[in-house]
Amino acid sequence: MAELDLRPIEFKGSCLCGGVCFTGQGLRDIVYCHCRQCRFGHGAIAAYSATEFSKLTLTKQDTLRWYSASPVARRGFCIKCGGNLFWESVAATTVSIAAGALDQTVGLQGAGHIYVKDKAPYYEISDHLPQFPGNMYVQE
Ligand SMILES: [Zn+2]
Repeated sequence: MAELDLRPIEFKGSCLCGGVCFTGQGLRDIVYCHCRQCRFGHGAIAAYSATEFSKLTLTKQDTLRWYSASPVARRGFCIKCGGNLFWESVAATTVSIAAGALDQTVGLQGAGHIYVKDKAPYYEISDHLPQFPGNMYVQE
């Protein structure tokens, strides 16, 4: 697992209904995930920033639940509004944060596309960002 390259950004975020709120410091640039599980969870591709566990504080988590879609990772979501918020590998010290849940993303840019081998056929990737067949951070 590569170290995250975090930008020194103070951040806040929440789900749609506000049942889950969080703050923190230090965000990775945005990674676009094209895997099937993200499509199920987000309706389309997912855009995720990330941070270290130690830099994330859940300020409200009444409606936060975790779903383990596979033995190696789990997804954090809101049971009230259905918002998808977090993704974490059981082996990692980092947590991915859905970019759409962040209050603002000024200072972040796209870092790349992952799980491109699983991409749906109804769209094309037409930007200049690097593409990885699987996870850019995990050797497969
Ligand atoms: Zn919610």
